[in-house]
Amino acid sequence: MPTNDRRAIAGELRRKANDSLDGESLQRTLARITDAEDSSWRGVMHRLADLIDPPLTCNIMYDDNSFICEKCGGEWPNEIRFEYCPYCGVEIVND
Ligand SMILES: [Zn+2]
Repeated sequence: MPTNDRRAIAGELRRKANDSLDGESLQRTLARITDAEDSSWRGVMHRLADLIDPPLTCNIMYDDNSFICEKCGGEWPNEIRFEYCPYCGVEIVND
């Protein structure tokens, strides 16, 4: 998630903290402000954890002979499959 989105969410949380929940539950308010896909209490907690400590993941790009890490540009032969980029260590999510 881009830093600007996290700042916007933090700003909205601060504004809400100085206002009121207007009858809305804390869980529902947090789910709405953080745009949690899963608004259960577990989903909201996962969303908050991801906002505080964003997961390091990347997609890999392909060319004819190699995979290329979008995060670091590391490149390796496309017959080798990795769960994590062998150069920067981010988790590869689209393989
Ligand atoms: Zn990498």
